Amino acid sequence: MPGFTPGRRWQPAYSPFQKETFGEHALRVLEYSVKGPLFGCRMCGNCLLAETALICPMECPKGLRNGPCGGSTSEYCYVDKSRPCIWYKIYERSFEWGREAVLLEVLPPLDWEQVGKDSWSAIFRNARNIGVKKIFSGLLSRSSDVRAQTLDGIFRPVRQPEWWQGDSKYHPPAYTEPASELEQRLVAGEFVVTCEVTPPLSSSTDRLIHNIEMVKPYVTAVNFTDNQSAMPRMTSWACSQVAMSHDAEPVLQMSARNRSRGSLQSEIIGATALGVRNVLCVTGDSAKLSPSPRDQMDINDLDSIQMLWVLRRMRDEGKYLDGREIKYPPMFFLGAAASPFSSNVKFQALREQKKVNAGAQFFQTNLIFDVDGMELWLNELAKRNVLDKVYILAGVTPIKSLKMAQKLAEVPGVYLPKNILQRMEVADRAGNAQAEGVQIALEVIRRIKTYEKQGIHGIHLMPVGWDEIVPRIVMEAGLIRRAEALPQFMEVRSSGLRISA
Ligand code: SF4
Repeated sequence: MPGFTPGRRWQPAYSPFQKETFGEHALRVLEYSVKGPLFGCRMCGNCLLAETALICPMECPKGLRNGPCGGSTSEYCYVDKSRPCIWYKIYERSFEWGREAVLLEVLPPLDWEQVGKDSWSAIFRNARNIGVKKIFSGLLSRSSDVRAQTLDGIFRPVRQPEWWQGDSKYHPPAYTEPASELEQRLVAGEFVVTCEVTPPLSSSTDRLIHNIEMVKPYVTAVNFTDNQSAMPRMTSWACSQVAMSHDAEPVLQMSARNRSRGSLQSEIIGATALGVRNVLCVTGDSAKLSPSPRDQMDINDLDSIQMLWVLRRMRDEGKYLDGREIKYPPMFFLGAAASPFSSNVKFQALREQKKVNAGAQFFQTNLIFDVDGMELWLNELAKRNVLDKVYILAGVTPIKSLKMAQKLAEVPGVYLPKNILQRMEVADRAGNAQAEGVQIALEVIRRIKTYEKQGIHGIHLMPVGWDEIVPRIVMEAGLIRRAEALPQFMEVRSSGLRISA
């Protein structure tokens, strides 16, 4: 086990994509022979150790370079239970060392042309440009700011290449008129309801259309998951297209798991040209959850924070990742998933702040059963001044059966209190589990609604295949929307293109 990396399992290093010169080869071997044993280095070519408390993040099976995923736990990584979540270790050490603010910097995806090459030559080059004298005086300075700036001068250009330039700042959206009906209603102060409709497993859209028509009068927007649990289904953008053709506003979900940076950019251009105006970025469940034969499980090209960063810049700066200008930039309301119960609430709040800084304008949270726990999470977000920058829709699911409750209790990132499980057990014995599940959902919604002026802006219903329960829950919880569909957005949905040349 490498000295500076707790719990690391050995993994092979990457090789360079192209043939190297003798000098490059020698430097790579030298770097690996030092950083391999010390940090479990995989030679990613874009070293982040200075930002990650000297723990290499490349152990993460999803290849996440901006923090843990929603399935992380303090005990283990859900993709490989034989080891801890390495991001937990990075957070623990960073908080211990008082370096948690460094974790807010949005770090880039790998540059696959650099992967497998050494990082040292770039570090030496930067040091030479600054000058040895300046470096020594900077590092020996009494001011911690000067010391940090000196180190930043050497390491920042390595971790933040020209094409990325990530930072730790909040980037507010650069447009003023709401992009979607969902955004419009949130801006107007309405307590909104969104829900998920399960994408079909076949090419038939009959059931999908039926469910969209059924929930449409009760919700502002309908989410279509993107291969939830890494299980192939009808894609989210096709479902979104069906929804728009039936005058329902979709939330297009895009998961990093099945995308490269290239496909992300082309899909957002296409989806927004067709009329999609709400986009939700998620890292996505690992292929480990899917049936065999499985997809790649050792790295994602992007994580959700990088997706937010790329999409926000496409919209607000009119630029592709490679720097090309977009003459008519895409327009959308940008969202992300939030996970109040995934990990230590302080870690989680930092992660949500990073998403907001990167571009998230709304959150749809993971399932909430413990409203007191949600309040702790909101308090941490308040301490980070995040609550006035993001709309939060609290995730609620009606439990359909005892079996479902038992499964939920084991899902990483979901906290199902014991008393709820016990209620479902009693109800199951009495033969009324469904009624009890609905009752629990209504109670949770009633309590969540008391936070309407304290950070919560709506409810996101996740019926997990029990789509027909949505109207009843909305009605019985008194959540029916205040105004009819807004005509300007109906037009966007039916005509698609917002901008013409
Ligand atoms: S971040 Fe990259 S270069 Fe740095 S130790 Fe990890 S794999 Fe090696």
